[in-house]
Amino acid sequence: MSQEIKFADLGLAEPLLRAIADAGYTTPTPVQAQAIPQVLKGGDLLAGAQTGTGKTAGFTLPILQLLSEKPVAAKPGRPRCLILVPTRELAAQVEESVQTYGKYVPHSSMVMFGGVGINPQITRLRKPLDILVATPGRLLDHVGQKTLDLSAIEILVLDEADRMLDMGFFDDIATVARQCPAERQTLLFSATYPEGIAKLAAQFMRQPQMVKVEAQHAEAQIEQRWYEVTESERLFAVGRLLEHFRPVNALAFCNTKAQCKRLVELLQGQGFSALALYGELEQRERDQVLVRFSNRSCTVLVATDVAARGLDIPSLSAVINVDVTPDPEVHIHRIGRTGRAGETGQVLNLASLDEMGAVGRIEQLQGRESEWQPLAGLKPAAGGRLLPPMATLHLQGGRKEKIRAGDVLGALTADLGYRREQIGKIDVNEFSTYVAVERGIAKEAAQRLNGGRVKGKSVKVRLLDD
Ligand code: AMP
Repeated sequence: MSQEIKFADLGLAEPLLRAIADAGYTTPTPVQAQAIPQVLKGGDLLAGAQTGTGKTAGFTLPILQLLSEKPVAAKPGRPRCLILVPTRELAAQVEESVQTYGKYVPHSSMVMFGGVGINPQITRLRKPLDILVATPGRLLDHVGQKTLDLSAIEILVLDEADRMLDMGFFDDIATVARQCPAERQTLLFSATYPEGIAKLAAQFMRQPQMVKVEAQHAEAQIEQRWYEVTESERLFAVGRLLEHFRPVNALAFCNTKAQCKRLVELLQGQGFSALALYGELEQRERDQVLVRFSNRSCTVLVATDVAARGLDIPSLSAVINVDVTPDPEVHIHRIGRTGRAGETGQVLNLASLDEMGAVGRIEQLQGRESEWQPLAGLKPAAGGRLLPPMATLHLQGGRKEKIRAGDVLGALTADLGYRREQIGKIDVNEFSTYVAVERGIAKEAAQRLNGGRVKGKSVKVRLLDD
Protein backbone atom coordinates (compact mmCIF):
# COMPACT_ATOMS: atom_id res chain seq x y z
CA MET A 1 0.00 0.00 0.00
CA SER A 2 1.57 3.29 -1.05
CA GLN A 3 -0.60 5.55 1.06
CA GLU A 4 -0.76 4.58 4.68
CA ILE A 5 -4.20 4.70 6.26
CA LYS A 6 -4.35 6.13 9.77
CA PHE A 7 -6.79 5.37 12.59
CA ALA A 8 -7.78 9.04 12.55
CA ASP A 9 -8.99 8.65 8.94
CA LEU A 10 -11.52 5.96 9.79
CA GLY A 11 -14.13 8.17 11.44
CA LEU A 12 -13.43 7.17 15.04
CA ALA A 13 -14.04 9.68 17.82
CA GLU A 14 -11.31 11.09 20.03
CA PRO A 15 -11.88 8.87 23.14
CA LEU A 16 -11.46 5.79 20.97
CA LEU A 17 -8.36 7.16 19.25
CA ARG A 18 -6.90 7.83 22.68
CA ALA A 19 -7.53 4.23 23.79
CA ILE A 20 -5.93 2.99 20.55
CA ALA A 21 -2.87 5.13 21.22
CA ASP A 22 -2.71 3.76 24.78
CA ALA A 23 -2.77 0.23 23.38
CA GLY A 24 0.29 1.17 21.33
CA TYR A 25 -1.24 0.65 17.90
CA THR A 26 0.09 3.01 15.28
CA THR A 27 -1.64 1.85 12.08
CA PRO A 28 -4.88 -0.02 11.51
CA THR A 29 -4.60 -3.58 10.22
CA PRO A 30 -6.27 -4.22 6.82
CA VAL A 31 -9.44 -5.65 8.38
CA GLN A 32 -9.71 -2.64 10.67
CA ALA A 33 -9.18 -0.19 7.82
CA GLN A 34 -11.99 -1.85 5.88
CA ALA A 35 -14.43 -2.83 8.61
CA ILE A 36 -14.45 0.23 10.88
CA PRO A 37 -15.87 2.76 8.35
CA GLN A 38 -18.40 0.16 7.16
CA VAL A 39 -19.67 -0.60 10.65
CA LEU A 40 -19.88 3.10 11.47
CA LYS A 41 -22.19 3.54 8.48
CA GLY A 42 -24.64 1.26 10.23
CA GLY A 43 -25.04 -1.51 7.64
CA ASP A 44 -24.50 -5.24 7.93
CA LEU A 45 -21.01 -6.59 7.41
CA LEU A 46 -19.67 -9.99 6.44
CA ALA A 47 -15.94 -10.13 7.04
CA GLY A 48 -13.54 -12.90 6.14
CA ALA A 49 -10.83 -12.58 8.76
CA GLN A 50 -9.15 -15.00 11.10
CA THR A 51 -7.74 -14.54 14.58
CA GLY A 52 -4.59 -12.46 14.50
CA THR A 53 -5.79 -10.00 11.90
CA GLY A 54 -6.98 -7.48 14.49
CA LYS A 55 -10.64 -8.24 13.81
CA THR A 56 -11.69 -7.82 17.44
CA ALA A 57 -10.73 -4.15 17.44
CA GLY A 58 -12.29 -4.00 13.97
CA PHE A 59 -15.74 -4.47 15.45
CA THR A 60 -15.43 -3.36 19.10
CA LEU A 61 -14.16 0.14 18.25
CA PRO A 62 -17.02 1.15 15.92
CA ILE A 63 -19.59 -0.58 18.15
CA LEU A 64 -18.48 1.46 21.17
CA GLN A 65 -18.79 4.59 19.06
CA LEU A 66 -22.23 3.73 17.65
CA LEU A 67 -23.63 2.91 21.08
CA SER A 68 -22.24 6.05 22.67
CA GLU A 69 -23.63 8.25 19.88
CA LYS A 70 -27.21 7.21 20.61
CA PRO A 71 -28.54 8.59 23.87
CA VAL A 72 -30.20 5.35 24.96
CA ALA A 73 -29.89 4.36 28.61
CA ALA A 74 -28.71 0.81 29.22
CA LYS A 75 -31.35 -1.33 30.93
CA PRO A 76 -31.02 -4.28 33.29
CA GLY A 77 -31.11 -7.64 31.52
CA ARG A 78 -31.62 -5.99 28.12
CA PRO A 79 -28.25 -5.48 26.40
CA ARG A 80 -27.94 -3.20 23.36
CA CYS A 81 -25.19 -5.21 21.71
CA LEU A 82 -24.62 -8.96 21.73
CA ILE A 83 -21.32 -10.49 20.66
CA LEU A 84 -21.67 -14.23 20.20
CA VAL A 85 -18.43 -16.26 20.25
CA PRO A 86 -17.63 -20.00 20.19
CA THR A 87 -15.56 -20.46 23.36
CA ARG A 88 -15.19 -19.12 26.84
CA GLU A 89 -11.57 -18.11 26.26
CA LEU A 90 -12.54 -16.04 23.27
CA ALA A 91 -15.47 -14.58 25.22
CA ALA A 92 -13.15 -13.44 27.99
CA GLN A 93 -10.69 -11.95 25.49
CA VAL A 94 -13.32 -10.10 23.53
CA GLU A 95 -14.76 -8.60 26.68
CA GLU A 96 -11.28 -7.57 27.74
CA SER A 97 -10.92 -5.82 24.37
CA VAL A 98 -14.23 -4.03 24.94
CA GLN A 99 -12.83 -2.71 28.21
CA THR A 100 -9.45 -1.81 26.71
CA TYR A 101 -10.86 0.08 23.74
CA GLY A 102 -13.79 1.49 25.70
CA LYS A 103 -11.83 2.85 28.62
CA TYR A 104 -12.69 6.48 27.76
CA VAL A 105 -16.24 5.78 26.60
CA PRO A 106 -18.93 5.29 29.25
CA HIS A 107 -20.43 1.83 28.76
CA SER A 108 -21.17 -1.34 30.69
CA SER A 109 -20.23 -4.82 29.58
CA MET A 110 -20.48 -8.39 30.76
CA VAL A 111 -19.05 -11.73 29.73
CA MET A 112 -21.17 -14.87 29.98
CA PHE A 113 -20.25 -18.51 29.38
CA GLY A 114 -21.04 -21.97 30.64
CA GLY A 115 -19.08 -24.18 33.02
CA VAL A 116 -19.34 -21.64 35.84
CA GLY A 117 -22.13 -20.79 38.29
CA ILE A 118 -25.19 -19.16 36.74
CA ASN A 119 -26.25 -17.18 39.82
CA PRO A 120 -23.53 -14.51 39.71
CA GLN A 121 -24.52 -13.96 36.07
CA ILE A 122 -28.16 -13.53 37.06
CA THR A 123 -27.13 -11.00 39.70
CA ARG A 124 -25.04 -9.08 37.17
CA LEU A 125 -27.94 -9.04 34.70
CA ARG A 126 -30.02 -7.10 37.19
CA LYS A 127 -27.78 -4.11 36.53
CA PRO A 128 -27.82 -2.03 33.32
CA LEU A 129 -25.91 -3.54 30.44
CA ASP A 130 -24.76 -2.21 27.06
CA ILE A 131 -22.54 -4.94 25.66
CA LEU A 132 -22.87 -8.65 26.32
CA VAL A 133 -20.19 -11.09 25.15
CA ALA A 134 -21.47 -14.66 25.37
CA THR A 135 -21.18 -18.26 24.20
CA PRO A 136 -24.42 -19.63 22.70
CA GLY A 137 -25.32 -22.37 25.21
CA ARG A 138 -25.31 -20.31 28.39
CA LEU A 139 -26.87 -17.36 26.62
CA LEU A 140 -29.87 -19.47 25.66
CA ASP A 141 -30.11 -20.81 29.22
CA HIS A 142 -30.62 -17.24 30.38
CA VAL A 143 -33.08 -16.45 27.62
CA GLY A 144 -35.01 -19.59 28.61
CA GLN A 145 -35.06 -18.56 32.25
CA LYS A 146 -36.10 -15.04 31.24
CA THR A 147 -33.15 -13.54 33.08
CA LEU A 148 -32.04 -12.12 29.73
CA ASP A 149 -34.09 -10.36 27.08
CA LEU A 150 -32.72 -9.75 23.58
CA SER A 151 -35.45 -7.37 22.43
CA ALA A 152 -33.28 -4.27 22.82
CA ILE A 153 -30.38 -5.52 20.70
CA GLU A 154 -29.20 -2.89 18.23
CA ILE A 155 -26.07 -4.73 17.07
CA LEU A 156 -25.54 -8.49 16.83
CA VAL A 157 -22.02 -9.80 16.20
CA LEU A 158 -21.26 -13.39 15.24
CA ASP A 159 -17.53 -13.78 15.86
CA GLU A 160 -15.63 -16.79 14.50
CA ALA A 161 -18.90 -17.90 12.99
CA ASP A 162 -17.31 -20.85 11.17
CA ARG A 163 -16.03 -22.20 14.49
CA MET A 164 -19.48 -21.89 15.99
CA LEU A 165 -20.87 -23.87 13.06
CA ASP A 166 -18.12 -26.50 13.47
CA MET A 167 -19.24 -26.86 17.05
CA GLY A 168 -22.82 -27.47 16.00
CA PHE A 169 -24.26 -24.11 16.99
CA PHE A 170 -26.22 -23.34 13.80
CA ASP A 171 -29.64 -23.79 15.41
CA ASP A 172 -28.60 -21.91 18.53
CA ILE A 173 -27.39 -18.97 16.46
CA ALA A 174 -30.64 -19.01 14.51
CA THR A 175 -32.65 -19.02 17.75
CA VAL A 176 -30.65 -16.09 19.10
CA ALA A 177 -30.98 -14.09 15.87
CA ARG A 178 -34.75 -14.60 15.89
CA GLN A 179 -34.95 -13.27 19.45
CA CYS A 180 -33.24 -10.04 18.40
CA PRO A 181 -35.26 -7.26 16.76
CA ALA A 182 -35.39 -7.44 12.96
CA GLU A 183 -34.28 -3.79 12.86
CA ARG A 184 -30.70 -4.30 13.90
CA GLN A 185 -27.18 -4.30 12.55
CA THR A 186 -25.55 -7.71 12.09
CA LEU A 187 -21.81 -8.26 11.78
CA LEU A 188 -20.39 -11.66 10.93
CA PHE A 189 -16.71 -12.58 11.15
CA SER A 190 -15.43 -15.87 9.84
CA ALA A 191 -12.01 -17.24 8.85
CA THR A 192 -13.49 -19.55 6.24
CA TYR A 193 -16.64 -19.47 4.15
CA PRO A 194 -18.40 -22.82 4.41
CA GLU A 195 -21.98 -23.31 3.21
CA GLY A 196 -23.43 -22.64 6.65
CA ILE A 197 -22.09 -19.09 6.61
CA ALA A 198 -23.90 -18.31 3.37
CA LYS A 199 -27.04 -19.74 4.95
CA LEU A 200 -26.65 -17.58 8.05
CA ALA A 201 -26.01 -14.51 5.92
CA ALA A 202 -29.04 -15.20 3.73
CA GLN A 203 -31.36 -15.75 6.67
CA PHE A 204 -30.16 -13.20 9.17
CA MET A 205 -28.37 -10.39 7.38
CA ARG A 206 -29.53 -7.58 5.13
CA GLN A 207 -27.41 -6.83 2.08
CA PRO A 208 -24.16 -7.23 3.97
CA GLN A 209 -21.05 -5.45 2.75
CA MET A 210 -18.29 -7.98 2.18
CA VAL A 211 -14.79 -7.44 3.47
CA LYS A 212 -12.03 -9.94 2.89
CA VAL A 213 -8.52 -9.88 4.20
CA GLU A 214 -6.12 -11.88 2.08
CA ALA A 215 -4.46 -14.76 3.89
CA GLN A 216 -1.16 -13.82 2.22
CA HIS A 217 -0.91 -10.79 4.43
CA ALA A 218 -0.41 -12.84 7.57
CA GLU A 219 1.56 -15.53 5.78
CA ALA A 220 4.21 -13.11 4.63
CA GLN A 221 5.14 -12.60 8.25
CA ILE A 222 5.50 -16.26 9.00
CA GLU A 223 8.73 -18.19 8.48
CA GLN A 224 8.12 -21.86 7.92
CA ARG A 225 10.78 -24.54 8.23
CA TRP A 226 10.31 -28.23 7.60
CA TYR A 227 12.33 -31.11 9.07
CA GLU A 228 12.10 -34.70 7.94
CA VAL A 229 12.00 -37.15 10.84
CA THR A 230 11.47 -40.85 11.42
CA GLU A 231 8.79 -41.87 13.91
CA SER A 232 11.42 -42.64 16.54
CA GLU A 233 13.05 -39.23 16.09
CA ARG A 234 9.86 -37.18 16.08
CA LEU A 235 9.26 -36.43 19.76
CA PHE A 236 12.96 -35.99 20.52
CA ALA A 237 13.20 -33.50 17.67
CA VAL A 238 10.85 -31.15 19.56
CA GLY A 239 13.37 -30.70 22.38
CA ARG A 240 16.10 -30.05 19.82
CA LEU A 241 13.99 -27.38 18.13
CA LEU A 242 13.39 -25.72 21.48
CA GLU A 243 17.08 -25.75 22.40
CA HIS A 244 18.08 -24.40 19.02
CA PHE A 245 15.47 -21.65 18.59
CA ARG A 246 14.81 -20.93 22.29
CA PRO A 247 11.29 -19.48 21.88
CA VAL A 248 9.81 -17.63 24.86
CA ASN A 249 6.57 -19.47 24.24
CA ALA A 250 5.65 -22.12 21.71
CA LEU A 251 2.43 -23.89 20.89
CA ALA A 252 3.05 -27.50 19.81
CA PHE A 253 0.26 -29.26 17.92
CA CYS A 254 -0.21 -33.04 17.98
CA ASN A 255 -2.87 -34.93 16.08
CA THR A 256 -3.96 -37.03 19.06
CA LYS A 257 -4.38 -36.73 22.79
CA ALA A 258 -2.11 -39.76 23.31
CA GLN A 259 0.67 -38.03 21.38
CA CYS A 260 0.19 -34.88 23.50
CA LYS A 261 0.61 -36.89 26.68
CA ARG A 262 3.72 -38.67 25.42
CA LEU A 263 5.32 -35.43 24.31
CA VAL A 264 4.63 -33.53 27.50
CA GLU A 265 6.06 -36.33 29.62
CA LEU A 266 9.18 -36.44 27.49
CA LEU A 267 9.67 -32.67 27.53
CA GLN A 268 9.13 -32.42 31.27
CA GLY A 269 11.59 -35.28 31.76
CA GLN A 270 14.12 -33.34 29.69
CA GLY A 271 13.73 -30.33 31.98
CA PHE A 272 11.54 -28.12 29.79
CA SER A 273 8.63 -26.19 31.15
CA ALA A 274 5.78 -27.89 29.29
CA LEU A 275 2.04 -28.30 29.84
CA ALA A 276 -0.63 -30.18 27.91
CA LEU A 277 -4.07 -29.08 26.80
CA TYR A 278 -6.46 -31.74 25.59
CA GLY A 279 -10.14 -32.51 25.71
CA GLU A 280 -10.61 -34.39 28.92
CA LEU A 281 -9.07 -31.88 31.33
CA GLU A 282 -11.38 -30.55 34.01
CA GLN A 283 -12.36 -26.92 33.54
CA ARG A 284 -10.24 -25.86 36.51
CA GLU A 285 -7.16 -27.64 35.17
CA ARG A 286 -7.73 -26.15 31.74
CA ASP A 287 -8.00 -22.65 33.17
CA GLN A 288 -4.79 -23.12 35.09
CA VAL A 289 -2.88 -24.39 32.05
CA LEU A 290 -4.08 -21.47 29.94
CA VAL A 291 -3.24 -18.91 32.59
CA ARG A 292 0.28 -20.27 33.02
CA PHE A 293 0.95 -20.36 29.31
CA SER A 294 -0.46 -16.95 28.53
CA ASN A 295 1.34 -15.24 31.41
CA ARG A 296 4.68 -16.55 30.14
CA SER A 297 5.43 -18.99 32.91
CA CYS A 298 5.40 -22.05 30.66
CA THR A 299 7.56 -22.48 27.55
CA VAL A 300 5.61 -25.06 25.57
CA LEU A 301 1.91 -25.74 25.43
CA VAL A 302 1.22 -29.08 23.77
CA ALA A 303 -2.29 -29.24 22.37
CA THR A 304 -4.68 -31.00 20.04
CA ASP A 305 -6.45 -28.86 17.45
CA VAL A 306 -9.80 -29.22 19.16
CA ALA A 307 -8.45 -28.22 22.57
CA ALA A 308 -6.68 -25.19 21.13
CA ARG A 309 -9.86 -23.78 19.61
CA GLY A 310 -10.55 -20.23 20.56
CA LEU A 311 -7.17 -19.92 22.24
CA ASP A 312 -5.61 -16.55 21.58
CA ILE A 313 -2.13 -15.84 22.83
CA PRO A 314 -1.26 -12.43 21.37
CA SER A 315 2.48 -12.86 21.01
CA LEU A 316 3.46 -16.42 20.38
CA SER A 317 7.10 -16.91 19.36
CA ALA A 318 6.64 -20.24 17.61
CA VAL A 319 4.19 -22.85 16.45
CA ILE A 320 5.55 -26.39 16.26
CA ASN A 321 3.63 -28.89 14.18
CA VAL A 322 4.72 -32.12 15.80
CA ASP A 323 2.46 -34.14 13.50
CA VAL A 324 1.39 -32.96 10.06
CA THR A 325 -2.36 -32.48 9.98
CA PRO A 326 -4.15 -34.32 7.18
CA ASP A 327 -6.37 -31.27 6.62
CA PRO A 328 -4.46 -28.38 4.99
CA GLU A 329 -7.02 -25.83 6.25
CA VAL A 330 -6.18 -26.90 9.79
CA HIS A 331 -2.50 -26.26 9.04
CA ILE A 332 -3.32 -22.69 7.95
CA HIS A 333 -5.29 -22.21 11.12
CA ARG A 334 -2.45 -23.57 13.29
CA ILE A 335 0.19 -21.32 11.80
CA GLY A 336 -2.07 -18.26 11.88
CA ARG A 337 -1.58 -18.20 15.63
CA THR A 338 1.90 -16.79 15.28
CA GLY A 339 3.13 -13.79 13.30
CA ARG A 340 0.41 -11.51 14.64
CA ALA A 341 0.01 -7.85 13.78
CA GLY A 342 3.45 -6.93 12.57
CA GLU A 343 5.60 -9.50 14.38
CA THR A 344 7.44 -12.29 12.60
CA GLY A 345 6.29 -15.71 13.63
CA GLN A 346 8.17 -18.93 13.34
CA VAL A 347 6.61 -22.20 12.27
CA LEU A 348 8.56 -25.41 12.73
CA ASN A 349 7.17 -28.52 11.08
CA LEU A 350 8.14 -32.15 11.58
CA ALA A 351 7.14 -34.61 8.89
CA SER A 352 7.83 -38.29 8.25
CA LEU A 353 7.89 -39.93 4.81
CA ASP A 354 4.40 -41.26 5.48
CA GLU A 355 3.10 -37.70 5.81
CA MET A 356 4.43 -36.37 2.50
CA GLY A 357 0.96 -36.62 0.92
CA ALA A 358 -0.40 -34.23 3.56
CA VAL A 359 2.63 -31.95 3.09
CA GLY A 360 1.82 -31.84 -0.62
CA ARG A 361 -1.76 -30.76 0.08
CA ILE A 362 -0.49 -27.96 2.33
CA GLU A 363 1.95 -26.80 -0.37
CA GLN A 364 -0.88 -26.76 -2.86
CA LEU A 365 -3.14 -24.70 -0.63
CA GLN A 366 -0.38 -22.24 0.23
CA GLY A 367 0.82 -22.09 -3.35
CA ARG A 368 4.45 -22.56 -2.46
CA GLU A 369 7.00 -25.26 -1.84
CA SER A 370 8.24 -26.23 1.59
CA GLU A 371 11.68 -25.24 2.71
CA TRP A 372 13.45 -28.29 4.13
CA GLN A 373 16.20 -28.11 6.71
CA PRO A 374 18.45 -30.90 7.99
CA LEU A 375 17.70 -32.10 11.52
CA ALA A 376 21.44 -32.35 12.07
CA GLY A 377 21.65 -28.56 11.74
CA LEU A 378 19.86 -28.12 15.07
CA LYS A 379 22.43 -27.30 17.74
CA PRO A 380 21.65 -26.17 21.28
CA ALA A 381 22.07 -22.39 21.46
CA ALA A 382 23.94 -20.78 24.35
CA GLY A 383 22.08 -19.84 27.49
CA GLY A 384 21.79 -23.07 29.49
CA ARG A 385 18.49 -24.65 30.46
CA LEU A 386 15.58 -23.01 28.64
CA LEU A 387 13.22 -21.55 31.22
CA PRO A 388 10.26 -19.22 30.82
CA PRO A 389 10.77 -15.64 32.06
CA MET A 390 7.98 -15.77 34.63
CA ALA A 391 6.53 -18.13 37.24
CA THR A 392 2.96 -18.29 38.54
CA LEU A 393 1.81 -17.85 42.12
CA HIS A 394 -1.56 -19.33 42.98
CA LEU A 395 -3.56 -17.49 45.64
CA GLN A 396 -6.52 -19.16 47.25
CA GLY A 397 -9.39 -16.71 46.87
CA GLY A 398 -10.75 -14.82 43.89
CA ARG A 399 -13.76 -12.78 42.83
CA LYS A 400 -15.90 -14.58 45.43
CA GLU A 401 -13.64 -13.06 48.09
CA LYS A 402 -13.77 -9.71 46.25
CA ILE A 403 -10.09 -9.82 45.42
CA ARG A 404 -9.10 -7.52 42.60
CA ALA A 405 -5.91 -7.39 40.55
CA GLY A 406 -5.02 -4.05 42.15
CA ASP A 407 -5.15 -5.58 45.66
CA VAL A 408 -2.63 -8.23 44.72
CA LEU A 409 -0.39 -5.79 42.92
CA GLY A 410 -0.51 -3.52 45.97
CA ALA A 411 0.43 -6.36 48.31
CA LEU A 412 3.44 -7.24 46.17
CA THR A 413 4.66 -3.71 45.44
CA ALA A 414 3.56 -1.34 48.21
CA ASP A 415 3.65 -3.92 51.04
CA LEU A 416 6.48 -6.24 50.02
CA GLY A 417 8.53 -3.76 48.02
CA TYR A 418 8.74 -5.51 44.66
CA ARG A 419 8.97 -3.37 41.55
CA ARG A 420 5.99 -3.10 39.21
CA GLU A 421 8.10 -4.49 36.34
CA GLN A 422 8.72 -7.68 38.29
CA ILE A 423 5.03 -8.49 38.30
CA GLY A 424 3.30 -9.79 35.19
CA LYS A 425 -0.26 -10.70 34.33
CA ILE A 426 -2.74 -11.06 37.19
CA ASP A 427 -5.78 -13.26 36.55
CA VAL A 428 -8.55 -13.17 39.11
CA ASN A 429 -10.89 -16.13 38.69
CA GLU A 430 -13.94 -17.00 40.74
CA PHE A 431 -12.16 -18.86 43.53
CA SER A 432 -8.49 -18.34 42.81
CA THR A 433 -6.05 -15.72 41.64
CA TYR A 434 -2.96 -16.27 39.51
CA VAL A 435 -0.08 -13.83 39.50
CA ALA A 436 2.89 -14.02 37.17
CA VAL A 437 6.12 -12.80 38.74
CA GLU A 438 9.71 -12.80 37.50
CA ARG A 439 11.07 -16.32 37.83
CA GLY A 440 14.01 -15.16 39.96
CA ILE A 441 11.81 -13.76 42.75
CA ALA A 442 9.03 -16.35 42.57
CA LYS A 443 10.00 -18.60 45.50
CA GLU A 444 10.67 -15.73 47.83
CA ALA A 445 7.58 -13.80 46.77
CA ALA A 446 5.41 -16.88 47.38
CA GLN A 447 6.83 -17.32 50.87
CA ARG A 448 6.54 -13.67 51.82
CA LEU A 449 3.04 -13.28 50.42
CA ASN A 450 1.98 -16.45 52.19
CA GLY A 451 2.65 -14.85 55.56
CA GLY A 452 1.29 -11.47 54.49
CA ARG A 453 -2.09 -10.01 53.72
CA VAL A 454 -4.17 -9.13 50.69
CA LYS A 455 -7.09 -6.79 51.30
CA GLY A 456 -6.54 -7.13 55.03
CA LYS A 457 -6.93 -10.90 54.96
CA SER A 458 -4.15 -13.45 55.20
CA VAL A 459 -3.83 -15.54 52.06
CA LYS A 460 -2.66 -19.03 51.12
CA VAL A 461 -0.10 -18.85 48.35
CA ARG A 462 1.56 -21.62 46.39
CA LEU A 463 4.15 -21.52 43.62
CA LEU A 464 3.00 -23.49 40.60
CA ASP A 465 6.07 -25.22 39.32
CA ASP A 466 6.70 -28.27 37.19
P1 AMP B 1 -7.37 -10.31 16.94
O1 AMP B 1 -7.22 -10.74 15.51
O2 AMP B 1 -8.51 -9.41 17.13
O3 AMP B 1 -7.38 -11.51 17.84
O4 AMP B 1 -6.07 -9.43 17.31
C1 AMP B 1 -4.77 -9.97 17.27
C2 AMP B 1 -3.76 -9.15 18.06
O5 AMP B 1 -3.37 -7.99 17.38
C3 AMP B 1 -4.27 -8.70 19.42
O6 AMP B 1 -3.32 -9.07 20.37
C4 AMP B 1 -4.36 -7.19 19.31
O7 AMP B 1 -4.02 -6.59 20.53
C5 AMP B 1 -3.35 -6.86 18.23
N1 AMP B 1 -3.75 -5.71 17.41
C6 AMP B 1 -4.99 -5.40 16.99
N2 AMP B 1 -4.98 -4.30 16.23
C7 AMP B 1 -3.70 -3.89 16.14
C8 AMP B 1 -3.05 -2.79 15.47
N3 AMP B 1 -3.72 -1.93 14.73
N4 AMP B 1 -1.71 -2.67 15.62
C9 AMP B 1 -1.02 -3.56 16.36
N5 AMP B 1 -1.57 -4.61 17.02
C10 AMP B 1 -2.90 -4.78 16.90
